[in-house]
Amino acid sequence: MPSFLCATCGTQYPESDVPPASCPICEDERQWVPVAGQRWTTLTDLRRTHKNLVHRIEPGLYGIGTVPEFAIGQRALLVRTPAGNVLWDCIALLDDATADVIRAFGGLAAIAISHPHYYTTMVEWGRAFDAPVLVHADDREWVMRPDPVIEHWSGETRALLPGLTLIRCGGHFAGGAVLHWAGGAHGRGALLSGDIIQVVPDRTHVSFMWSYPNLVPLAPAEVRRVAGAVAPYAFDRIYGAWWDRHVERDAAAVVRRSAERYLRALGEPRA
Ligand SMILES: [Zn+2]
Ligand SMILES: [Zn+2]
Repeated sequence: MPSFLCATCGTQYPESDVPPASCPICEDERQWVPVAGQRWTTLTDLRRTHKNLVHRIEPGLYGIGTVPEFAIGQRALLVRTPAGNVLWDCIALLDDATADVIRAFGGLAAIAISHPHYYTTMVEWGRAFDAPVLVHADDREWVMRPDPVIEHWSGETRALLPGLTLIRCGGHFAGGAVLHWAGGAHGRGALLSGDIIQVVPDRTHVSFMWSYPNLVPLAPAEVRRVAGAVAPYAFDRIYGAWWDRHVERDAAAVVRRSAERYLRALGEPRA
């Protein structure tokens, strides 16, 4: 029996003879359903039509993205540390070539995902590499394919491996998380942020939204919460969810400035 994938968001559902009646991830106001109705595919079909690119971004950091673009179009990040490798965020396509490359790197110690839009085929990845998939417990209701490989973490931070810390920011999703990599940016620190902290096209600022496709902003308290959650950490770079969305330097100040700009736009007297 196939496990169907939603073609709009990439979420995989439990095995079934026929596609699910709907995709709750897309029906939620933070995603969208195509005008012509929901479309479905399978991992087997996706492997025939798509492939992954693996790209070295900086020492110890690789991006893994699908061509042609599929669903939301994010790319995953692979962080290599002396204590093991972590896959940050997930993409729907896992094929033999990608698995071979990751195994040649030494496999995965863990997989951690920022929020439900990138859960995709996380169960396939977790099983393939015998690695726990960490998702925040506050987003438990959005797990469409429950499996023992998924580990729900709770609270505000979680040490993943030496130098790798999950930080719950909230905002876009209650359990929205980012990954702090102390050894990133040549030891100056990097934040892997998914779209919990969204790098904007000119890369001089970041932004924060409750719903990106429907252009619904976050409330002031949530903007302060996201910026406050990462404030204790040292980081010079931010890697967002797409290949070209990164802040190259001075990223901690960029987050502060961006939160202030956002709050001014909302008419808040001060950040
Ligand atoms: Zn969907
Ligand atoms: Zn999202």
